[in-house]
Amino acid sequence: MNEPSVRLTSSEMASPEAAPTEAAHPEASADRAWSYETAAVQTGIARGLGQTIGFPVHAAAAFQFSTLEEAQEEFQTNAGLSYARIQNPTVRALEGRITALEGGTETVALASGQAATLTAILSVCRAGDHVVATSSLFGGSTGLLTNVLPLMGIETTLVSGGPDAVRAALRPQTRLVWAEMISNPSGDVADLAALANLAHAGGALLAIDNTCGGAGYLCAPLAHGADLVAQSLTKWAGGHGSVMGGAVTVGASHDLRRNPIYTDGGDASLLALRGVGALAWRQRWLGASQMGMTLAPHSAFLIAQGLETLALRLGRESATALALAQWLSAHPRVGAVSYAGLEDHPSFPLVGRYLPRGAGAVLTFEVQDPSAFLARVQVLRIAPNLGDVRTLVVHPWTTTHGRIPEAARRAAGVNPGTIRMSVGVEDLADLKADIEQAL
Ligand SMILES: *Cc1c(COP(=O)(O)O)cnc(C)c1O
Repeated sequence: MNEPSVRLTSSEMASPEAAPTEAAHPEASADRAWSYETAAVQTGIARGLGQTIGFPVHAAAAFQFSTLEEAQEEFQTNAGLSYARIQNPTVRALEGRITALEGGTETVALASGQAATLTAILSVCRAGDHVVATSSLFGGSTGLLTNVLPLMGIETTLVSGGPDAVRAALRPQTRLVWAEMISNPSGDVADLAALANLAHAGGALLAIDNTCGGAGYLCAPLAHGADLVAQSLTKWAGGHGSVMGGAVTVGASHDLRRNPIYTDGGDASLLALRGVGALAWRQRWLGASQMGMTLAPHSAFLIAQGLETLALRLGRESATALALAQWLSAHPRVGAVSYAGLEDHPSFPLVGRYLPRGAGAVLTFEVQDPSAFLARVQVLRIAPNLGDVRTLVVHPWTTTHGRIPEAARRAAGVNPGTIRMSVGVEDLADLKADIEQAL
């Protein structure tokens, strides 16, 4: 992964044991026996005299060797540390924690959710390949799929509707099916088992954007057939609107035998040389080593700290969101309310199957005069973010979805009167009182 090994020739990849595998996180397999709440605070924290409680921040661009031979060994194997664009101990510790929380085998942490999405797609697609994505996507993902990836010869079909629509869009060159665990803002829940089955039948992998699934807390898609999870750590993982990051996590059972990126070259192919570690190896090589979308160590520290309280925050936020959705549904001054935890939402049955801890912290509702409503809020804050400890609202029609064609906006559940709310940890009664006076 260092400069001598970026050309991807067989001799340079001839150390399968050097692939970043679980060995980099020896505690991860033990951690999977822990509950989410325990793993979130215990994973990766060393024990012993003078050890820090929490991850130390390694503010370093490079790491030392004591001999020429040590440096040569590292440049051949990439097993350890050399240059922080590729790996940093603080970032690595965060990766181990996310791997444990998502139930994966390896995580690559990157500078943003966008970096994670791009890296995940490019890890299995190249020019001539095809992606099928469900249409109710985060705007940045739609942008990458429809504006950026075509520059590299990768085509995307956006489908609206469930697994049947995805099946109809599959082609022989389809390498990836992409969906959001809980879509924003419409709240559609991915039918993981159905999507995994048809992706795998078509020789493709299933990637889930688990941002709204809260880093594995509401749902860990890898346990339900997904092959990889990408997410923005900017939202619930960081949790305080103070840091940006993203991650790609791979599961153990993905099958790359039908993807030429991994099989070209026969005995010298990526798959032959790196085995089950090939996918994460390529993600680190692409996202961090080559494209330089590296997560800063201070950001990794803040995100790791955020993960320690994610279960407390998102559990409470999800309960508050349900209470608010029920209250708003019965409110005479409020139009349609969309929240997957409400029985009238099309995804309600999937909530029972995949989201036992709640349907998440995001809901939308329709008001008569969104401009007047937003001008009056005093607790709610107007900001285009999700997963903050503070309740945030936006008017998607004029902001987050403002550039999308009108019909597509409406199809995504965004109307001129729609308010999107990401519920924070404030007291329910205070939130209700603020909304009431603003209505
Ligand atoms: C925010 C978000 C992203 C992009 O993450 P950034 O950290 O902003 O780059 C991707 N997917 C979803 C669902 C998001 O909400």
